[in-house]
Amino acid sequence: MHLPVGGNKFYKLKYNLEAAKKQNHHTLLTFGGAFSNHVYATALAGKLHGLKTIGVVRGEDDELNPTMRFCREQGMHLHFVNRETYSGKDEPGFLSELQNRFGNFYVLPEGGTNLLAVQGTKEILATVEKNYGLIFCAAGTGGTIAGIISAAPSQTKIIGISILKGDDTLTGKVSALISDHHHNWQIQTQYHLGGYAKYNSTLLQFIHQFTKNYHIRLDPVYTGKVLYAVFQKIDAGEILPHQNILAIHTGGLQGWIGWNYRFKKN
Ligand SMILES: *Cc1c(COP(=O)(O)O)cnc(C)c1O
Repeated sequence: MHLPVGGNKFYKLKYNLEAAKKQNHHTLLTFGGAFSNHVYATALAGKLHGLKTIGVVRGEDDELNPTMRFCREQGMHLHFVNRETYSGKDEPGFLSELQNRFGNFYVLPEGGTNLLAVQGTKEILATVEKNYGLIFCAAGTGGTIAGIISAAPSQTKIIGISILKGDDTLTGKVSALISDHHHNWQIQTQYHLGGYAKYNSTLLQFIHQFTKNYHIRLDPVYTGKVLYAVFQKIDAGEILPHQNILAIHTGGLQGWIGWNYRFKKN
């Protein structure tokens, strides 16, 4: 499968890479699951920018995992930790332990979301020529939609489709990343289809049909669920024919490689 280099993760990395270089760091360290688009993008960006990369990955090493194999090929050092250790990743003790082991590094949080990431994702809308009344975007850690909200005109409404199950903290996380005067947005939590990377045959059928009709590939974790939500809303009459809507394709097509590995084992 030919994969384009792009997607929201590169916007999120842009100003972090600048900051890392300005602070004379030679190494990026980040966190994620074994199929993470963010860890994948960090490995690639590090290679392209001449920075070493370390991925602190939840779970056990699996030599055959194609996402991890790609990261290794970019020169990323992978450090696997169990779930319990991983859940303490934001505690200072864990970071200093990593520093003792690996020396100095620039930390990118899980999913790459921080204020510099939002500075980058603010630029996504600049690539769109028209104004839209309604914008849809996938939301995981919220850094991408925070940038969209910050950059959109006040009359545009932005809807984040949460791809995590029961994440009622997401609205608070997004609020913390944007300035107070934005009220034209909402996170919707009913389209995760069972949880992160969970799927059903309806979703897969939808993605297949969408690609057939529009010649645009969707990934099964993020963009597939966003477009599925949009079409559900059209069917339900929540989106009307005259409405000018924009659905943002945030990338994530590498996710298929891991997805096929996990669920089809081919
Ligand atoms: C990571 C990712 C998202 C979620 O972005 P956040 O900034 O974490 O909300 C959405 N779409 C794709 C394709 C992603 O890889």
